[in-house]
Amino acid sequence: MRLKDKVALVTGAASGIGREIARAFAREGARVVVADLQLEAARQAALEFDGLGVAMDVTNERHVDEGVRAAVAAFGSVDILVSNAGIQIISPLVDLDFSSWRKMLAVHLDGAFLTTRACMRQMIAAGRGGSIIYMGSVHSKEASSLKSPYVTAKHGLIGLCKTVAKEGAGHGIRANTICPGFVRTPLVERQIPEQAKELGISEEQVIKTLMLKNTVDGEFTTLADVAELAVFLASFNSNALTGQSVIVSHGWHMQ
Ligand code: NAD
Repeated sequence: MRLKDKVALVTGAASGIGREIARAFAREGARVVVADLQLEAARQAALEFDGLGVAMDVTNERHVDEGVRAAVAAFGSVDILVSNAGIQIISPLVDLDFSSWRKMLAVHLDGAFLTTRACMRQMIAAGRGGSIIYMGSVHSKEASSLKSPYVTAKHGLIGLCKTVAKEGAGHGIRANTICPGFVRTPLVERQIPEQAKELGISEEQVIKTLMLKNTVDGEFTTLADVAELAVFLASFNSNALTGQSVIVSHGWHMQ
């Protein structure tokens, strides 16, 4: 029970990586708030572990502030934030609409800022410290074609994380970024045929020659791998581990 008596808010937790992290936190004893776009999906996900589901578009200041207030009203505090909600858009830069560019930056960067601000204010007021985890990507460290706004946003999260580590330190608030390789979630399943079409190659080639090419063993990273790292970072209880980004990717991008 590494997270006993802790309260965690996970954005984008109705699906994929966020959902698995929410489950893992609950298994470790945390009370978990599932925040996602659709209230019903968030509630369904939270039902599994007697958590709270809240409707939250992370790009909407009012939704975020109200969601964090609801979490505090239900469970008394927010000790852990996982800023995880995300989208993907596959397109050559020259064909990308400005609106798509802005949407990507809004979900990943505005969302991280708004949730961090709301949770940090609450963590400082409660005086219990806290752990903030950003869902970066190997694309926080390097680029791939057809993903210009995603790569830009994921690099940006590293800057936010380092700044939050500095501003949070005096309050016992740590900030770290998880950088997964490819994990088979709906976000990735959608982009396999999209990339195949854009590049004129088969879906198998997308997996072998793009997604897993630079891993040490040709394997996908799993939901469980990412969730275990999230539990480790959330439960690490000192400023010794803050401002860092940890890659979990079967060796894709060693630093
Ligand atoms: P997913 O599509 O399974 O889940 C994303 C969730 O975010 C969905 O439930 C969706 O409703 C929610 N969401 C989208 N926009 C939102 C918004 N504006 N407000 C609130 N919720 C919103 O995707 P996933 O693969 O689990 O991705 C989760 C995170 O992990 C993303 O930040 C993604 O960039 C990152 N990531 C994924 C992979 C991968 O291979 N799957 C690799 C590296 C990083």
